Amino acid sequence: MIDDIDRRLTEAVASRQEALTRLTQDLIRIPTLNPPGRNYREICDYLDGRLSGMGFHVELVRAEGALADSDANPRWNIIARKDGPHAGETVHFNSHHDVVEVGNGWTVPPFGGELIDGKVYGRGACDMKGGLSASIIAADAFLATCPDFTGAIEISATADEESGGFGGVAYLAEQGWFDPSRVQHVIIPEPLNKDRICLGHRGVWWAEIETQGRIAHGSMPFLGDCAVRHMGAVLAEMEATLFPLLAGKRTQMPVVPDGAKQSTLNINSIHGGEPEQAPEYTGLPAPCVPDRCRIIIDRRFLIEEDIAEVKAEVAAMLGRVKAARPSFTYEVRDLFEVQPSMTHESAPIVRTVSQAIEKVLAKRPEYVVSPGTYDQKHIDRIGRLQNCIAYGPGILDLAHQPDEWVGVQDMVDSATVMALTLAELLLPERRV
Ligand SMILES: [Zn+2]
Repeated sequence: MIDDIDRRLTEAVASRQEALTRLTQDLIRIPTLNPPGRNYREICDYLDGRLSGMGFHVELVRAEGALADSDANPRWNIIARKDGPHAGETVHFNSHHDVVEVGNGWTVPPFGGELIDGKVYGRGACDMKGGLSASIIAADAFLATCPDFTGAIEISATADEESGGFGGVAYLAEQGWFDPSRVQHVIIPEPLNKDRICLGHRGVWWAEIETQGRIAHGSMPFLGDCAVRHMGAVLAEMEATLFPLLAGKRTQMPVVPDGAKQSTLNINSIHGGEPEQAPEYTGLPAPCVPDRCRIIIDRRFLIEEDIAEVKAEVAAMLGRVKAARPSFTYEVRDLFEVQPSMTHESAPIVRTVSQAIEKVLAKRPEYVVSPGTYDQKHIDRIGRLQNCIAYGPGILDLAHQPDEWVGVQDMVDSATVMALTLAELLLPERRV
């Protein structure tokens, strides 16, 4: 049911379309490249001006001592809060302000923020400065239309999501910013398409596997023990037993695309023997039997799987190789792990955004789960807040591509969904 408040909010967002476009363009024109983490302070200062002007109380927080934080490239974050005249719950919009490298193949200036045929172009347009702008305009429209609200709105722009989020949401979550006692609802406006709600993501385990042999002269390999051949046996065993095992595991999570509904494993890199020389080195390699070979594996696992079981499968596979090749030794080193995260469909934020999408787009939203992780992991695991989703404008496939863009109408539509969501959660007479 569309009522009078919904109609006024929809008009308030529509009348801000130009401001929404300009804000997106301004943000794209601050090149917040990560790595190494450029212009983080500049974008936070720009947002400070904007949000202070809307009556928000603003704090700039540097993630001092976090991974990658340095005086040359400090990890700055901004958190802005606007309290209503009455006590109530807090709705938090969290966007990352960093963007990935430009890459080749652009036909428009990557930091120009050009508006062409209803699309704003530039690195970060869709991932995710368009989403950040939509949340700010949604809040602006809501504050102008419904000043007598309960609770609070928070808007944050955080560092380093593209490199794990340790200098951003993870740091803030450790400092208590996402404690459920102060924040009750979180929307992350990542580009998941305006009619989809992303409930969470699969889990991750990165590890390095090293096979070890014995160095000897390459003319007498029988005096050594070749670590690369041992790795070959490991890879053959993986093909024969591990990949088929993973392909047989399917999740009930609504992961998109469909190929990611099963457990997956990528071999990220392989290296054996002596280090590769610089291109200007003109000499030949020395004849040696390699005594070590390393691969890095990137295993994505499902909510139905346990990380201990995931690691045990790899250990069992290595054990089978070892049984057939007694001379070889190996080591497995953990590099990184993230648990799967999935907010329940009955959570208040899911129900509320779902209802708003039905009103604005006249269709039922699709629930999806992301194949890769994003900052929800830190809000869930460190912040202990489960009432969190990703919802925002932009087409996911355009993220990290050349000629990245975000559609103005898509931003207006998702900003309207966000404004209606604020009304539902912060106007006492409207609570579902
Ligand atoms: Zn993103």
